[in-house]
Amino acid sequence: MARRRQIYEGKAKVLFEGPEPGTLVQYFKDDATAFNNQKRGTITGKGVLNNRISEYLMLRLGEIGVPTHFVRRLNMREQLVREVEIIPLEVVIRNVAAGSLATRFGLTEGTPLPRSIVEYYFKSDALGDPMVSEEHITAFGWANTQDLDEIMSLALRINDFLSGLLLGVGIRLVDFKIEFGRLYNGDDMQIVLADEISPDSCRLWDIHTGDKMDKDRFRRDLGGVEEAYQEVARRLGILPEGGPRDLKGPQTMQ
Ligand code: C5P
Repeated sequence: MARRRQIYEGKAKVLFEGPEPGTLVQYFKDDATAFNNQKRGTITGKGVLNNRISEYLMLRLGEIGVPTHFVRRLNMREQLVREVEIIPLEVVIRNVAAGSLATRFGLTEGTPLPRSIVEYYFKSDALGDPMVSEEHITAFGWANTQDLDEIMSLALRINDFLSGLLLGVGIRLVDFKIEFGRLYNGDDMQIVLADEISPDSCRLWDIHTGDKMDKDRFRRDLGGVEEAYQEVARRLGILPEGGPRDLKGPQTMQ
């Protein structure tokens, strides 16, 4: 079989040309990076779990009418997605003070926020993803005011829904990062949820113990990284059939 054309390689995923025009194959790697690539490692089975977790969350969001790029999961490490024009923003939604927000404002991690806060960062590894305001976004033409209204309303809807879904399995959604893309259909353009939603891009704390169940375990050398990702999948009822034994999955990218 001819090797598929690689479109893009990111830190945790690879995008290949899809089987039909307008589609891409999103491959999930076990590679983990933090602090803008300064810390690197491998989390065994992470790609398999993130593929499943992101599939599950995107499907549930699709069921309540949130448009997403997700089409279907193809195998352990790959999913078929619609090709979109990525809006170069990382949209972060926060419910509880943690991470860079806690540092910036001198807040104790775990302090509930008076209301959910949405922040925008410009996607640029070279610049270290600087935080930007609506002024920067509209002035530099990354999105217009109408796009931003749609992004904000989708982000808050996604947050409300995922907060409830995760609370139901004993997990607090502290904060998370999402990305959006433009999907074109003739003259129409729709903004859809893209990329992934997984423990790589969320802060997830056990509701009772406060234990971290996300990439902070890797960032902060807390140990038990693989187990934490598995526990998220287990609580969502989506551990691969063979259980943790199956988690290595196929290593080839063919
Ligand atoms: O580091 P910070 O507190 O700003 O991160 C907020 C949220 O966004 C966290 O859930 C983190 O996992 C996610 N994030 C991400 N990718 C980045 C930066 C942050 O997924 N490049």
